[in-house]
Amino acid sequence: MNWSPTIFRIKDIAIKMHVSFLLLLGYEAWIWRSHGYEGMLFGMGMTLLLFSCVILHELGHALAAGTVGIPVREILLLPIGGVAYLSRRPRKPIHELWIAVAGPLVNVAIAFVLLPFIPTADISATMSIAALPSPDSLPSWSVAVSSLFVANVMLVLFNMLPAFPLDGGRVLRALIAMVTSERQATTIATMIGQGAAVVIGIIGILNGNIMLPLTAALIFLSAGNEQSETQARTMLETRLVGDAYNRNAITLSPADRTSRVVDYILTSYQPDFAVVQGNQLLGIVTREDVLHALVTDPRDVYVAGIMQRDFIKVAHTLTLDDVRTTIGAANNGEVAAVYRGEEFLGLVSLTDIAEALAVIDYVARQKTLPSV
Ligand SMILES: [Zn+2]
Repeated sequence: MNWSPTIFRIKDIAIKMHVSFLLLLGYEAWIWRSHGYEGMLFGMGMTLLLFSCVILHELGHALAAGTVGIPVREILLLPIGGVAYLSRRPRKPIHELWIAVAGPLVNVAIAFVLLPFIPTADISATMSIAALPSPDSLPSWSVAVSSLFVANVMLVLFNMLPAFPLDGGRVLRALIAMVTSERQATTIATMIGQGAAVVIGIIGILNGNIMLPLTAALIFLSAGNEQSETQARTMLETRLVGDAYNRNAITLSPADRTSRVVDYILTSYQPDFAVVQGNQLLGIVTREDVLHALVTDPRDVYVAGIMQRDFIKVAHTLTLDDVRTTIGAANNGEVAAVYRGEEFLGLVSLTDIAEALAVIDYVARQKTLPSV
C-alpha cells in the first residue's frame, strides 16, 4: 500500500500526504468536540490552514532550489511537518544558504500579511503560546487569524534553531563551509546541533514538557544521520580513476594478430585493449578498430598496424568526473590511459565512467535523497 498518496501537483512538484495525517485531523476534531459540529469543523479547518503554511514553507525551499538549478519533484507532508526532496544536493554553500532561508522567509511573509487583521489589543496575548488554538477558546475568525499568526512565528523560530537538520542548522553549515570544507562544516554544525538538542531536551524535562525532549531526540538522531550521509557522498564524489580502472583487463602484445582480438571480444565483455610491451603502453585497440580492420583488410594483420598511437593520458589521482571532462574535451576517442607517474596502469572508457556514476547516482537516490 502507498502510505503517502499524491494529493495534488503544483507544476512538476507532487504534494504527497502521509495517511497518518488523517489521524491528526480526527484528533483535532475530537478535542474541539465540546463546541459541537462547528467546533469540530473549526479544529479540522485550523489544521488544514496550518499545514497550508507548512506546504508554502516547503514551496519556498523548492522555488529557491529551482532558481539555482536544483529541481524539487516531491514534497511530503507528515503530521510532524513537511519535507521537500531536492533532486541533488547544492554544491555551493551560498546555494544551500539561500535554499534553507527561503522556507522560513515564506512564514515571515505570511505573518506580516496576517498582522493587520489581528485586533491590536490581542497582539501581546497572541504572542504567548497559550494563544494557540485550544478547545477553551470559542471558534472565531479572530482566534483563527491569531493562532495562524503565532503558528507562523513559531515555525520561523523553531526552524531557525541552529540545529541540524533544521533550516537554521543548514544556514549555520553553509556559513561555516564558506570558510572551511563542507565536510568540516558538517562536523562542526552537527556538534552544535546535537549540543542544542541536549539543551532543548533538558529545558523540556525541567518544564515538564514531553514534546521538547522527543523533538530533541529526533534532532539529535537526524544530525548524526546527516553527517554520515555527507561523509559517504564526499567519498563517492571524490572517487578517483586510479581506484576505478579495470585491473584485470586483457592486454595485447604488438605481435598479436587481429583474429586473436576477435576471440577476446567474443569471449569477454572487454571492448578496449591496451597494446603493451613490457610496462610501456604502445597503443589502444578498440572493438571499432578491429571491426574496421576485418572489413577493409582480408589479411589477419598485427594489432600494431591497427592500434591508435595517439591516446589520452590521465593521472590516477584525477576524479572520475575530471576524467570524463578530459575525454570529452579531447575529442579523440572514448578511452583514456591511466598513469601513475610514468607507469601505465590500465584503460578507462566513458562507458566505465557512466556506469560508475550511474551506480553512485542510484545509491544516492535510494538512500540519501537530500531534503529541507
Ligand atoms: Zn524548512
